[in-house]
Amino acid sequence: MTQEIPVIYTEASFSHRPQYEVFRGEKEPHAETVERVENILQALRASGFTHINTTTIDGMPWIEQVHDAAYLDFLKQTSDNVDASVADKGVKPGDVKAIYPSVHPYVPNPRATNPLAERGKYMFDMYTPIMQGTYEVAVESAACAVAGAKLLKDGEKQVYALTRPPGHHAEEAMMGGYCYINNAAVAAQYLRSAGADRVAIFDFDIHHGNGTQNIFYGRDDVFFASIHASPDIKFPFYTGYEDEHGEGDGAGFNYNIPLPEGIDDATYDVHVAKVLKRIRDFHPNYLVVSAGFDTHAKDPIGAFRLTTDYFGKLGKDIASLEFPTLTVQEGGYATDVLGENVVSYLKGFRER
Ligand SMILES: [Zn+2]
Repeated sequence: MTQEIPVIYTEASFSHRPQYEVFRGEKEPHAETVERVENILQALRASGFTHINTTTIDGMPWIEQVHDAAYLDFLKQTSDNVDASVADKGVKPGDVKAIYPSVHPYVPNPRATNPLAERGKYMFDMYTPIMQGTYEVAVESAACAVAGAKLLKDGEKQVYALTRPPGHHAEEAMMGGYCYINNAAVAAQYLRSAGADRVAIFDFDIHHGNGTQNIFYGRDDVFFASIHASPDIKFPFYTGYEDEHGEGDGAGFNYNIPLPEGIDDATYDVHVAKVLKRIRDFHPNYLVVSAGFDTHAKDPIGAFRLTTDYFGKLGKDIASLEFPTLTVQEGGYATDVLGENVVSYLKGFRER
């Protein structure tokens, strides 16, 4: 096995170009940009990472195990027809045609057949537009995570999947928070199918991983732990509370640590130690990390004050658990330092 951490990405990421998110009724430039992946790849190459490959794996079997069939069908049909179905009225040259919701369900278990109603049924915000080809790009991003997980199964100890679009906000039947398919969940499901009895997921994105929590909330074979900004201050607002422990068989297998604004390295580190202890006690065969670098001090949509150096310590501490670990890229929007942060984190693993 190589000493170097293999990196997997997909060329499909470069064709994913959401233009606007609708925030408080205003169209604002989308934060989840293609520059993010460019910056990360550039930083990795500049730091001597050479095992950087694109994925060729088919992730569909595991995507279909964690997502609702009607949801996947809606996403595919809709994204296949965006250019044909969105009117040209108001579309300026250079604009990317995109679909946003206009109405959300006002009844439990909504039935929806009208396309406008389906949008609301399957989208929980206006940050996550469907564009022509979005389905394929999201499927490829999840395939990256599966390809990374397969390397673990084949004996690698550490792998980094540069997934874009990110995934941790995508629920079984809901897109949102720039996420369409839950890459980390698909990877965990792959590892279960490949023979693992237990998989742990540690989500350190500043936003609560509502999608991953949703997918595994009733299961005891996948332990989900998340450290994030309190729902009182940050998206996705409606989940991420401390008392969300899981339900049914999953009771006790969901662990949330919501934190106030302005957390620094030292305080954060105390909470990381608690998560790592819980993961160790769970004895997983594999660990999947949902890595969001929007906890960095410079992040434009963040709220914490973590430093680039700290991500090195975080990587080293995670590696010290000695579980085969797949790191899946989630958020991080300070594009100029995103690559440095990823490199610092992965070098922490290498030091170990
Ligand atoms: Zn985030």
